[in-house]
Amino acid sequence: MCGIVAYVGPKDAAPILLEGLQRLEYRGYDSAGVVVSNKGLKVRKVKGRVADLAAAVPARFKGATGIGHTRWATHGVPSDENAHPHLSNDERIAVVHNGIIENADELRAKLEADGAVFLSETDTEVLAHLIARTTKEADSLEEAVRTALKRVVGTYGIAVIDAERPGEVVVARNGSPIVLGIGEKEMFAASDVAALVRYTRQVVHLEDGELAVLKADGFHTFASDARETAKEPLTVDWDTGHYDTGGYEHYLLKEISEQPDTVARTLRGRLDERFNVAHLGGLNMDAREVRSFRRVKIIGCGSAYYSGQIGAQLIEELARIPAGAEPASEFRYRNPVVEPDTLYVAISQSGETYDTLAAVQELKRKGGRVLGIVNTVGSAIARECDGGVYLHAGPEVSVASTKAFTSTAVAFALLALHMGRVRDLSPADGRRICEGLRRLPDQIKEILALEPQIKELAAKYAASPSMMFVGRVRGYPVAREGAQKLKEVSYVHAEAYPASELKHGPLALIGPEMPTVAIVPDDELLDKNLTTLGEIQARGGKVIMIGHRTADPKLANECIVVPKNEVELDPILLGIPLQLFAYHAAVALERDVDKPRNLAKSVTVE
Ligand code: GLU
Repeated sequence: MCGIVAYVGPKDAAPILLEGLQRLEYRGYDSAGVVVSNKGLKVRKVKGRVADLAAAVPARFKGATGIGHTRWATHGVPSDENAHPHLSNDERIAVVHNGIIENADELRAKLEADGAVFLSETDTEVLAHLIARTTKEADSLEEAVRTALKRVVGTYGIAVIDAERPGEVVVARNGSPIVLGIGEKEMFAASDVAALVRYTRQVVHLEDGELAVLKADGFHTFASDARETAKEPLTVDWDTGHYDTGGYEHYLLKEISEQPDTVARTLRGRLDERFNVAHLGGLNMDAREVRSFRRVKIIGCGSAYYSGQIGAQLIEELARIPAGAEPASEFRYRNPVVEPDTLYVAISQSGETYDTLAAVQELKRKGGRVLGIVNTVGSAIARECDGGVYLHAGPEVSVASTKAFTSTAVAFALLALHMGRVRDLSPADGRRICEGLRRLPDQIKEILALEPQIKELAAKYAASPSMMFVGRVRGYPVAREGAQKLKEVSYVHAEAYPASELKHGPLALIGPEMPTVAIVPDDELLDKNLTTLGEIQARGGKVIMIGHRTADPKLANECIVVPKNEVELDPILLGIPLQLFAYHAAVALERDVDKPRNLAKSVTVE
């Protein structure tokens, strides 16, 4: 959420900053601003969109050093005054900030007593006043920033410029990402590689506690104790095409439609049909170690958590190891018991989800063995974990996750196959799963071809005040994710329950006003599920069945029939019609599909 872009080099900074901010728009924000340095600082900041900011920037807004920001308010309402950058009273220092300064009130009181005049309600503004004070005694901007940050408690990614030191930007990271981009006689920095790929593929990720000085001819990085750190640049293989809608009306539909390809990429090079195993090069664990785990604990937030539930089911079924999933946001706060014979798996599309990162850090501190299932190469969670599986799904721009969700479930199938085959999964079952995985991309294409039917259903049911989603065992996490997707993008209230729990309470809600989406795979629980459908219909409830049975009006009012795979892998496919359903319900209700209200992509604050 929220974004930072910085530039220093021979060109005019403003167009580069504005273009970078545009690339970060998908993350969600409420205001935007830029500052450039050219014999003093020039600032423009507005509540609203980057396009509004661009319109407010005059043609003569020259300066070859600058920083820009998209804000997602945490302290103070979205307004022009609260938008970043924030300046010191002498207008020498400008700061943009992602994150939260926890001791801002205390610092503010002290700074005000010292004569600082605050122009905003933000926590960020204390940084500008603090650095303005430390800079007087410091030999460099880097030293001034480092000294000021010693007094700061909280999370931040920041970029700072000093009117008296043109040609220089200082950035620092603690809990909120900062990536440097290396150009030809120019340097960039941003909170997300999305803002950099138009200009360079050579990037450097800062670690927590690190600080960097950027000049046109290069950069230096430092640890918090001022020691210089050595960094190896990484080459990113995402390009600007990944950040365009590619002819689709919305990123969400584009990303749903990409899934045959993104699933194929998650699988690529990882299935070995000679031994019916999965090769996962990044696990950093030999067979003996894999055998030694007695439990698997999966953590993630939101859709990542639900994909973790699918993962837990896969690991229990294929590897016969007790496995469970829990929201990372809860896990980190409950002083978890960390056991040496448990394998922990953390899931995050961005690899920067703050709650998940904090949970991983807590696990590592207690000596836990943690794998990451992450989409963004080189991200904080990927770096923090002992090993992991990259999704290779390409950047996910839409706030509501689809392709990363599906690829995470596929990555878990690979992990479960891998763990199963060093334990008790037979070669024959291994082959069955390998073949099933290979069929997924074509079967996803078949499901995408159902879009006209799903669109019609979504339009028909979008006006419902509330919807119920049910599934049993393998189908339950699919139902949860389906309800989550609908809530996120269409704002239709949705509940998800295990089908077996319906009669223990929520059946009281069922009636003509409350349609039910039921996940009904053709597996050993089919009869039980059909009984549940009967119970719903007997109470006047409409049923939309997602399953493998041919349409039968006696079973359900509506049937979406998807191709059948192996029972263990069916959940991966059953979720896809629900993505299309949520998308088309949101379009029918004229929602802001890619940027749902109140939400942001990659939640990098607590
Ligand atoms: N806490 C800061 C504010 O409210 C920064 C929020 C952000 O990360 O955009 O202005």
